[in-house]
Amino acid sequence: MKQFQYTRAVSQQSTIDAIAKPGTKIIAGGTNLVDLMKRGVTAPDKLVDINNLPLKNITSTKTGLHIGALALNSVVSENSLVLQKQPLLSMALKAGASPQLRNMATVGGNMMQRTRCAYFFDVSMPCNKREPGTGCGAMGGYNRMHAIFGASEQCIAVHPSDMCVGLAALDATVIIAGKKGERRIQFIDFHRLPGDHPEQDNHLAMGEMIIGVDIPDNNFAKNSYYLKIRDRQSYAFALVSVAAALDISNGIIKQARLAMGGVAHKPWRLFDAEKALAGKAATEENFKQAAQIAMRDAKGYEYNSFKIKMAPAVIAEALKHAAGLV
Ligand code: SF4
Repeated sequence: MKQFQYTRAVSQQSTIDAIAKPGTKIIAGGTNLVDLMKRGVTAPDKLVDINNLPLKNITSTKTGLHIGALALNSVVSENSLVLQKQPLLSMALKAGASPQLRNMATVGGNMMQRTRCAYFFDVSMPCNKREPGTGCGAMGGYNRMHAIFGASEQCIAVHPSDMCVGLAALDATVIIAGKKGERRIQFIDFHRLPGDHPEQDNHLAMGEMIIGVDIPDNNFAKNSYYLKIRDRQSYAFALVSVAAALDISNGIIKQARLAMGGVAHKPWRLFDAEKALAGKAATEENFKQAAQIAMRDAKGYEYNSFKIKMAPAVIAEALKHAAGLV
């Protein structure tokens, strides 16, 4: 591993000043960054440890819930406000990684984690995300875990997070701080599709840091569910996952929120399926129809086309659980 400098941040402003310099990265839980450094995928000159910054709070606000960027995944998943107001987020967090990793991983770090595409991690292989212009090892390689939505000729990787799928479904907002002050971005717009620049995972600019997320109040707490299908029951990334949230009144769906994981370069919101469910009865038949609508733009590759068959069943099943039909 390349030698690097390590420093502890004394303030948010000093962190922003530090990360404005090329080669400087933030470290919090380090559950992804340290792996990437050990393998030579990334080689920062300097790490700024932000664990001492006051960004661990989970609080009720006038409009919803605020979660600081340094709140641990394990703490968020067991927090009483989260369990009461946004149980879908708790379910998504508990589906991710392992208890040990959730005890180290932060909300901000979870959002910043990079794809687990095996070709991205193997520095002997071509990868446009790791080294732009070198090609994509996965495109003609073993692409079983890869994207069925929103991929490009440059990259077919998927975003690995479960938490982010939950936050995308819950219409969360990301709060970002930088030299020009704070800005907010809709969670669903935070991560990017690969396009011609797969090296860019998200819309965070140089010198900016995530300081928290806000989740607006909603009526989904009673009828929400996170369903993750994976190769083993724990400590495995999603083949397909679905965050489903329904606002049901007298058996009729007033509003629906659906997002998928394991299928795209970012958490994949199923807007057309959500629209199709609004105003319909909460029945298995309607859930199956919405699931088919969600799959219209799916495209498979040599080894991952099974996801196109699997995903509608996972969507319908997640909706059945959310509606209390299971
Ligand atoms: Fe790299 Fe993306 Fe291709 Fe994986 S899918 S090898 S991350 S360019």
